[in-house]
Amino acid sequence: MPELPELEVIANRLTERLSGSTVQTVKVHSHIVIHGIATGEFEERAVGETFQSFRPDGKFIVMELDEYDLVVNPMLTGRFRLLETHRTPTKTDMFSLRTDTATLWYYDRKRMGRAYLVPKGDYSNIAGFSERGPSALDPALTLEVFKDRLRRHRGQIKNVLRNQRFVKGIGNAYADEILLYAGILPFRRRSTLSDAEVVKLYEAMRTVLTRVLEILSTRHLNELGTEKRDFLMIHNRGGGMCPLCGGRVSEVTANRFKTNYCQTCQK
Ligand SMILES: [Zn+2]
Repeated sequence: MPELPELEVIANRLTERLSGSTVQTVKVHSHIVIHGIATGEFEERAVGETFQSFRPDGKFIVMELDEYDLVVNPMLTGRFRLLETHRTPTKTDMFSLRTDTATLWYYDRKRMGRAYLVPKGDYSNIAGFSERGPSALDPALTLEVFKDRLRRHRGQIKNVLRNQRFVKGIGNAYADEILLYAGILPFRRRSTLSDAEVVKLYEAMRTVLTRVLEILSTRHLNELGTEKRDFLMIHNRGGGMCPLCGGRVSEVTANRFKTNYCQTCQK
């Protein structure tokens, strides 16, 4: 699923291409991703509004219009595409917004994403939007704040990293990457981490996410799908070679989520 670095770059690409564009028509091709509003209202309310900006918010993207915000959580397989010419929707297309410059298509193979059109700044009806922690890349998330927040969470450290109430923006893939970089096994209980390991974890979180952001920043909008993450060090590399020690990458699957780690590099 797209995580904070992908969403940050998607937001930048959409801002470059669409900010200042006015919505002319909205078409819902599959109502299953539309939440909290009737399909007809979703199609009508945004017409005539102008895109102001696009910003990532954890695993959501917020598209600011004049009176409304279009908020999308792409979940596992949601993607965005911009096209300048008209085309017929396919069965993975969920909705499209035609503007005076280009058409924004949201498509989603597994149809698990969620889209909301809410009055500007009112996110109270969006599932899982409030009650989240600060962004993993928020400058205000200092080491001290990180340590303090970490103390409130129990359980396996990988699950804590993925918990949006702890910090927002980290999902399954980058949690594995961060833990390899920090040298910590994903199954370790948070309470067993030493002070030095917590510092390593914080530094790894910032380093890995910043590095991924740099790699993605030159990519085209269509190249930001998770299947294009050719730069990952360990996630999705089960049975392959650990880039740090040359050993074999281990893999465990639980609740359909894959965890990859190195038994040599991670303690
Ligand atoms: Zn290794």
